[in-house]
Amino acid sequence: MTRTDAPKTDTHCPYCALQCAMSIADGVVSPREFPTNRGGLCQKGWTSAELLTSPARLTTPLVRRDGELRPAAWDEALDVVAAKLRALRAEHGPDSVGVFGGGGLTNEKSYLLGKFARVALGTSQIDYNGRFCMSSAAAAGLRAFGLDRGLPFPVADLDRADAVLLVGGNPAETMPPFVQHLRGARLVVVDPRRTATAELATLHLQPAPGTDLALALGLLHSVVADGHLDEEYLAERTTGFDEAWRIAATWWPERVERVTGVPVADQRAAVRLLAEAENAVVLTGRGTEQHAGGTDTVSAWINLALSLGLPGRRYSGYGCLTGQGNGQGGREHGQKADQLPGYRKIDDPAAREHVKGVWGVDDLPGPGRSAYELLDALGQPGGPRALLVFGSNVVVSAPHSRHVADRLAALDLLVVADLVLSETAAVADVVLPVTQWAEESGTMTNLEGRVLLRQRAVAPPEGVRGDLDVLQGLATRLGQPAERFPTEPEVVFEELRRASAGGPADYSGVTYRRLRDGEALHWPVAAGGPAEPGTIGRGTPRVFLDRFAHPDGLARFVPVEHRGPAEPPDAEYPLQATTGRVLQHYQSGAQTRLVAELNAAEPEAYVEVHPDTATRAGLAHGDRAAVVSRRGRTLARVRCVPSMRVDVVFLPFHYAGEGRANLLTNPALDPTSRMPEFKVCAVRLETV
Ligand code: SF4
Repeated sequence: MTRTDAPKTDTHCPYCALQCAMSIADGVVSPREFPTNRGGLCQKGWTSAELLTSPARLTTPLVRRDGELRPAAWDEALDVVAAKLRALRAEHGPDSVGVFGGGGLTNEKSYLLGKFARVALGTSQIDYNGRFCMSSAAAAGLRAFGLDRGLPFPVADLDRADAVLLVGGNPAETMPPFVQHLRGARLVVVDPRRTATAELATLHLQPAPGTDLALALGLLHSVVADGHLDEEYLAERTTGFDEAWRIAATWWPERVERVTGVPVADQRAAVRLLAEAENAVVLTGRGTEQHAGGTDTVSAWINLALSLGLPGRRYSGYGCLTGQGNGQGGREHGQKADQLPGYRKIDDPAAREHVKGVWGVDDLPGPGRSAYELLDALGQPGGPRALLVFGSNVVVSAPHSRHVADRLAALDLLVVADLVLSETAAVADVVLPVTQWAEESGTMTNLEGRVLLRQRAVAPPEGVRGDLDVLQGLATRLGQPAERFPTEPEVVFEELRRASAGGPADYSGVTYRRLRDGEALHWPVAAGGPAEPGTIGRGTPRVFLDRFAHPDGLARFVPVEHRGPAEPPDAEYPLQATTGRVLQHYQSGAQTRLVAELNAAEPEAYVEVHPDTATRAGLAHGDRAAVVSRRGRTLARVRCVPSMRVDVVFLPFHYAGEGRANLLTNPALDPTSRMPEFKVCAVRLETV
């Protein structure tokens, strides 16, 4: 059979939340028409098939003996893990075992992982790396609207927007096919760096890192002062404006300019651009969300959108650009410390009764520690003594990563299920090689809340197992009946449908058959629920058109104060470091660093610096530099970039070893979302 004759399987990209549609035939990827990507793929998507044949792939379990990871049979590896878990639970109780999941896991895996933790292990200690991703936007969305769906409207609605305010997002590099949806709009970008996306903007506002909240308060001030407040909308659809205004009233544009560095004229121009557009949208990304004040900052952007009457209006609104492939679905089905399937709250008695009924159990643990707090407690008195990691590489991706590595080393047992020997797997006691992406079927929920079916396109290599098989293998060894932990994704999904029924993220009307038929199913999709005219199926593409999800149907203004970065610069650490992604790499780089073309394009850690800042530090373009914070020191190649602010340096966070940007980052946590302050910390530059 030639390549062109090979049967095609329709699936979706292994990486980001845009979930571009693609087909795979004979190991070759080709793009497919779909509303989010419209036949486009970025370089990561085009080269993704290389992951399927990577020589770095693990094909046998590894068990550490005499300090070395050595090949082992599956039964032997699972027996070792189960015996240790049983012993720890018997001696120290169920919370002595922790579980850490990932926003790239399918809905089925996320669901079964949460059930495994709470039923088979009986532990409350489960959280996932999505806590490090969009949790501030999720918390702010819940406060304002009573519901967190990243984009509460389809991506294609952005084609009709005349103005878009994009805060702390760089889709021109992180998800390039998305940019086509912004072409018809006048674009205002808020970012301390002049990113590839900022280059496309009508207006680029370049605030100092950690001052976004002050900027948002100032823009709200200008909305009112310049006569753009939508009072009719405020009266009909919102509550709480007066309290929010009492704070914003003190943020007159000149004060905002002093704090943020954004000129008064640019503040006013941004507001005018949004206010005069027929359809306008405010979007946030990680740049404004990953702060110790992230939830309040997003609330301030939502307040701005509400003041202009945007949320809940067709082709206008507020949305968050979720990053990870299943960042949306991953937070809906129970791998988050405070949630049960269907986006139910774990401390809601009615939710607990419903889920207990579906799972056939008498009791469930309560909420556990958030992601960083869980990692920080490992091996400490009262903290977990064993950790099971699925779909995450915390040695690279967690903040203050040397401290996290120390905590992992303090465990009695670290188990990692992964495709390759990631930096976290390399320090584990047991490594379980699992299937990936095109080797298995499962559903994902993209950034617009649309449920998708990724179909198995190739057979997995001999020796690897699916995560669902691993969970069943462990659960049965811990005394659970096998049928309680099915291994067929569609069987797991059928149970997920029942568990989510009636919850905020209701999937009860979604079936594999409907997804295979190509129906556009944005949750909530209640079985037999109402149809929106003009859409296929019975999903809910636009969730807030008639009412918001609070019991009174109104959106909430939330009064928020600017606090600034948790660690301001000083004489010893005079610069502010911020981190982000590059076009060729994804998250911790565990996958993309395996792809030759991507690695060749961006092979090593670098730091972007203003030329004057580099000169002052005795550095020149191309030098190796040390970037030093209170927590650590990372080595990176200097790139002199004249558009950088002189007080800011930028590091991509995809690299391992001495190039880890997260050696520097500050684990100060947002009090509401428990999001660490990834996006700003005080540093200095040194020559090497
Ligand atoms: Fe699309 Fe994201 Fe994959 Fe690129 S990485 S092809 S933008 S889904």
